[in-house]
Amino acid sequence: MNPEELLALDARHVWHPFTQAAAAKPPMLAVSAQGATITAADGRRFLDLVSSWWVNLHGHGHPAVAAAIARQAAEMEQVIFADFTHAPAAQLAARVAGLLPGDLDRVFYSDDGSTAVEVAMKLSLQYWRNRGIAERDQFVCFEGGYHGDTVGAMSAGHSSGFFSAWKGMLFPVETVPFPATWDGDDSVATKEAEALDALDRLFAAKPGRVSAVLIEPLIQGASGMRMCRPAFLTALAERVRAEGALLIFDEVMTGFGRTGPIFACLKAGIVPDLVCLSKGLTGGFLPMAMTVAREGIYREFLGPDLDRAFLHGHSYTANPLGCAAGLASLDLLLDDACTARRAAIEAIHRVRLDDLATRADTTRTRICGTIAAFDVGGGGTGYGAGIGPRLKAAALDRGLLLRPLGNVLYLLPPYCLSDDELHHAWDGIAEILAELAG
Ligand SMILES: *Cc1c(COP(=O)(O)O)cnc(C)c1O
Repeated sequence: MNPEELLALDARHVWHPFTQAAAAKPPMLAVSAQGATITAADGRRFLDLVSSWWVNLHGHGHPAVAAAIARQAAEMEQVIFADFTHAPAAQLAARVAGLLPGDLDRVFYSDDGSTAVEVAMKLSLQYWRNRGIAERDQFVCFEGGYHGDTVGAMSAGHSSGFFSAWKGMLFPVETVPFPATWDGDDSVATKEAEALDALDRLFAAKPGRVSAVLIEPLIQGASGMRMCRPAFLTALAERVRAEGALLIFDEVMTGFGRTGPIFACLKAGIVPDLVCLSKGLTGGFLPMAMTVAREGIYREFLGPDLDRAFLHGHSYTANPLGCAAGLASLDLLLDDACTARRAAIEAIHRVRLDDLATRADTTRTRICGTIAAFDVGGGGTGYGAGIGPRLKAAALDRGLLLRPLGNVLYLLPPYCLSDDELHHAWDGIAEILAELAG
């Protein structure tokens, strides 16, 4: 079929996510993707500076991951994961557990970030129930948090503003302020104290009622790459421990090296009780997720009765192709060359962002590992608001795939991005800002 026919089929039959089809331009027809570059049917090439919705780690089409999937597909594509296990699932679980701190040793597989969060929330409720403390049934989350699009994850992320159509189906979740900070922010200590005070008040008002506190550690992604300091997470963890509740880290976006170290919890020196992983887990090749629990949590699910067990699962749990991709991706991630690339990306971000910060319309510059972000001028801060759509269009014209979050422009590139490609991207951003200002 030729591109026109394919686009006509798409226009007639496909419903795209997060898209107002009445206003959006027709989608671009991607025909190949290699390294950091996506090629469209009309020959245009785009530098993927958002890792295709934050999933891709080592570049598109990486031969090592592709080969691992092909080998696994020829051997065993999918088998039921109750009563059976298989080598890729056991090995991947062991390797991820080995990279996480403390006794975060027990892996529950699922399919995407939303279900990883859903599983963490269900596990924490049942954990308390199994211990005979069913009144610990409330969740505490952070303003601006985003945890996915299933009902539990939407409830946890209700303050993100995406979910007004489904208010009626969400369950109540308490929220406390998130102390978002940036370079040279002199109000950060005050914001952190306010957030911790709010948490203290909440714990005092509901002693023994909180099941778990759920946070995107170091960076709230979807609400605009809002960053907090590791020290805030340390103070948070101390309070959550003192209250006796569980601490859940949603590392769906921060996992697998985005913030520098392999996981954000390592940067903060914290052992949470549950960790949610997904986006980078397979290097961006296949949908898969895991919720990793401390061994003590797992033990509370053991016993003679079936209803003490976690009666939850998905048809494709621990898909061998996904696990094989995950193992191949981890090999690449743990190679010194990848560590060096991540450090190089962060160093270039620093230089180029400091350069841009001299512009009046570039504010709140911030970097965490391979993620750089800043606010552009005024305008709204909601998803798709303000200057975002114009920035996106101008970037696409230059062959740069950027997806501003409201007026927040950010780069979250795959680690294979070369120094030249990254400088090219920052050059383009500087030109776009100058153009929009003039
Ligand atoms: C993307 C994201 C999710 C949801 O993951 P999906 O795979 O889109 O379901 C959950 N939490 C965080 C922090 C995310 O960035």
